[in-house]
Amino acid sequence: MLARAGKKVCVIEKQAILGGLASTVSRNGLTFDVGPHALPTRNEDLIKLIYELCDDDIIKVPRSTSIYHSKSYFKQPLDLKNVINNIDYGTGLKILFELLLLAISRPFSQTNFDDSFESLTKRKMGKTIYELFFGPYTHKVWGRNPTEISHRLASQRLAKTSLKDLIKIFFGKESEDHDLHFKDFFYHKQGIGKIYDNMAEAVKAEGGEIFLNSQIIEIKRNESRITSIELDIDGRSHKLESSFVLSTIPLTDLIRSITPRFESKLYKIEKKLSYRSLVFLFLQVSKDWARDDQWIYFLDKKVPFNRVSSQRQMSNHMISGNGTILCIEFSCDEGDNVWNQDKNYFYNLCIPELVDAGLIEESDVIDYFLLKRNNVYPVYSIGYLHELRQVFEYLKKIDNLVSYGRQGFYNNDTNMSRCYEIACKASSYVMKNPQGTSIWYEQLFKSCGY
Ligand SMILES: Cc1cc2nc3c(=O)[nH]c(=O)nc-3n(C[C@H](O)[C@H](O)[C@H](O)COP(=O)(O)OP(=O)(O)OC[C@H]3O[C@@H](n4cnc5c(N)ncnc54)[C@H](O)[C@@H]3O)c2cc1C
Repeated sequence: MLARAGKKVCVIEKQAILGGLASTVSRNGLTFDVGPHALPTRNEDLIKLIYELCDDDIIKVPRSTSIYHSKSYFKQPLDLKNVINNIDYGTGLKILFELLLLAISRPFSQTNFDDSFESLTKRKMGKTIYELFFGPYTHKVWGRNPTEISHRLASQRLAKTSLKDLIKIFFGKESEDHDLHFKDFFYHKQGIGKIYDNMAEAVKAEGGEIFLNSQIIEIKRNESRITSIELDIDGRSHKLESSFVLSTIPLTDLIRSITPRFESKLYKIEKKLSYRSLVFLFLQVSKDWARDDQWIYFLDKKVPFNRVSSQRQMSNHMISGNGTILCIEFSCDEGDNVWNQDKNYFYNLCIPELVDAGLIEESDVIDYFLLKRNNVYPVYSIGYLHELRQVFEYLKKIDNLVSYGRQGFYNNDTNMSRCYEIACKASSYVMKNPQGTSIWYEQLFKSCGY
């Protein structure tokens, strides 16, 4: 948008490829996403843009997601009928009874600022559904007890399913929450990252520049403006002057790279914000799994990974022969014991579980390899919003910098479609030559329900 409006645009990316978390990598002749990414958008401008950039390479894929739990497969998002059919009679009755009680008491229940994920989810879904599904999974993904996680996660992640949704789906109706209950999604035949490659070509065609393998190491400022950015490009330093900086790097990294430093109080606050990381184990297998699912969630805390996905179910065009590439996600904190393990550790952990779930035989595995990504999921500790607001009070003082995106705005609800919408808003904001960023942040906070 900025490049097309005649602005000189420089995109800076520390990796060798574009797309960030939504990138597609190539390795030993294989091409796959770093966690298959679906684009289930209803934003007409975005749909128009992806067809304009990728034309016939955009496909529409029917979505299928399951949960594997206690040796049974459940539909995801949860379908009450399917849950009740898959569990014992007593538990089924308990769930229905709890949901009935919740439906009666709902108008009287209120959410407090300090509510935890656990208390809100129990109030939304009942104790039994929480203990069977949401509690153990949340504990595993976040590495923390759900009593220590803010209730805001419940409105943004797996537990987004509301009681109304459950009842609607039970009676065969469609839920209103498209982000969670989408039935099909857009995808690029050759992987989601290709959309970003084509976008980069369009930026270059308008005279923009793309800096890959370029890490921002310092952002220089005066009292109210960013003056320049110092990059490390393949070990060489490089300076860029900038009239406006749009940043999607992790908020904590952004704060630490700005010089001169702000008052020390900011760095004490910023330390309370952190990100969960992911290790991806990829298995190249000779046989496709006998399911339609793109993604299967493993909720049990004893299963060491969160989710398994299959690249073939995203696009048939990416894999030759009969096999597929499975992507298995393990969450951890950067630098912890899990993060530091090698590929054999993860392989040995996952094989028995995948075989037990009937997904593969060990003899199907041709090869396996690892990728690690830090700063993936902003951690919502109880009260984190206080810290976040304080951090943005400092950033507001800089007139020509906006921080947004999943890591940049510390918001887990920012999927690709939402990133696009916010990026468009940020671009029009920049083009209006604003005198300060206060209004921008206030609008962003409001649109995120903060
Ligand atoms: C496993 C997984 C599956 C997902 N599935 C979906 C899905 O199906 N659909 C969907 O819509 N969303 C999905 N998401 C979310 C989606 O990936 C994110 O919403 C989106 O990629 C966020 O984009 P972003 O630009 O805000 O951040 P990022 O994609 O994280 O981009 C930030 C970029 O900044 C770069 N960077 C960081 N520090 C520096 C530095 N110092 N110098 C230079 N560059 C730097 C990083 O390398 C990165 O490329 C998924 C996320 C994960 C982790």
